Amino acid sequence: MTDIHEDDEFRDRIATINQEGKRQWIYPKKPAGKFYKYRQKVSYFLLLFLIVSPFVKINGNQFLMFNVLERKFSIFSFPFWPQDFHLFVISMIIGVVFVALFTVVFGRIFCGWICPQTIFMEMVFRRIEYWIEGDRNAQIKLDKQEWNTEKIKKKTFKWFLFFIISFGIANVFLAYLTGSEKLLEMVTEGPVNNEGTLIALLIFTGVFYFIYIWFREQVCIIACPYGRLQGVLLDNKSIIVAYDHERGEKEAGRGKLIKNEDRAEVGKGDCIDCKLCIAVCPTGIDIRNGTQLECINCTACIDECNTVMNKVGLPEGLIRYASEDEITKKEKFVFTARMKGYAAVLFILTGIFIGMLFLRNDVEATVLRLPGQLYEHKGNKISNVFTYKIINKTAKDFNSVHFVLENPEGDIKPVGKPVFKIKGESIVQGTLFIEIDPVLLKSDKTKITLGVYDGNKRIETETTNFLAPRNFN
Ligand code: SF4
Ligand code: SF4
Repeated sequence: MTDIHEDDEFRDRIATINQEGKRQWIYPKKPAGKFYKYRQKVSYFLLLFLIVSPFVKINGNQFLMFNVLERKFSIFSFPFWPQDFHLFVISMIIGVVFVALFTVVFGRIFCGWICPQTIFMEMVFRRIEYWIEGDRNAQIKLDKQEWNTEKIKKKTFKWFLFFIISFGIANVFLAYLTGSEKLLEMVTEGPVNNEGTLIALLIFTGVFYFIYIWFREQVCIIACPYGRLQGVLLDNKSIIVAYDHERGEKEAGRGKLIKNEDRAEVGKGDCIDCKLCIAVCPTGIDIRNGTQLECINCTACIDECNTVMNKVGLPEGLIRYASEDEITKKEKFVFTARMKGYAAVLFILTGIFIGMLFLRNDVEATVLRLPGQLYEHKGNKISNVFTYKIINKTAKDFNSVHFVLENPEGDIKPVGKPVFKIKGESIVQGTLFIEIDPVLLKSDKTKITLGVYDGNKRIETETTNFLAPRNFN
């Protein structure tokens, strides 16, 4: 069980592990203050976005979907197919550069303000815990006391609520993975007919429950690879949640508040060593030891220290968003060459991505000559046989699809119906013959152009090679 750990202990082990190597439970004090209010607003907006996104459809496409099993992806209602994998990769690279740029400039701001793990932990589960078990001291007391009726009631109620919410998160997670339509279908049909999905749902629920009931801040401290990147991305100019050690320590160091003492005269810093910034920290660290990998930039210590400073009549901002150089050299924020480099890469990649997104067709057709087949004479014409594949990436159906030979003139003879239907988000494959008068062919290998039409509207154009004998005309 915790208490605030001693001054130099942070060098030996992480805050969640005690001297015996066992788990040290963190009981953060309930945060309050200006930043916490902002974070609440941002968090609730993002939570709403996260929950609603898989259930919103634009042009029949789910707003966000990552169906890995069926390889169907939809990002901001743009459907992505395996054929668009290059776009998906670019969007992922942009995401990584964006997060890296943000880390270089603003430290781990993503973790404190945007990361779903922090939002669920701090703004959902932790708040429920405060509501049921009370603030830090009440929680410590409850955990230390015997298993009496009060403790059983509180703990069971908390575990039950945590389980229900974990189950809810698992459902949303599944809506991202399988598509919300399928999820709703399964809900209507009942679990008996969807045993596999129910098992997946229970596994996800179990994972989320384990994380929020027990693993908690260790996700950020131990498991998350992004946190480990901080060491290479941060420099003295990165803006981080920082303790102003110049102001807090001065010549004589920090010290408790002593009545009627003139701190300036004895050289004491502004830090009154109340340790409330540690008590409020969800990862249990002392920010006065400098930037640490465990700091998720949640700003709780800024709010807490500001409250303390207000109470003792000192200026706010002893802990604040600042760079190391701002604190030690009193330098203002500068946009460094590294930041400019990252921003340029991000800008170029985003430009390429937007360009490719708009150039991308809703329909993709491939027409290839049948392997092993050359050509045939059919009357006074030359005939080649092709296979085709048409992918409809949209959610709408195309009802009268047919091929037209655009260049040169000739006949297209599909095997099967000449006009066919392609359902939304589906693939149609088939075989067709193309017959061309040899006088219209330029060589033994002529590039030909086919148009794919839905009614009178051309939806895709494809080129392929047409073979003919060497001395054909
Ligand atoms: S809350 Fe502020 S005054 Fe109190 S220990 Fe932390 S830095 Fe010092
Ligand atoms: S040190 Fe401050 S900002 Fe960092 S995790 Fe702890 S409370 Fe949050």
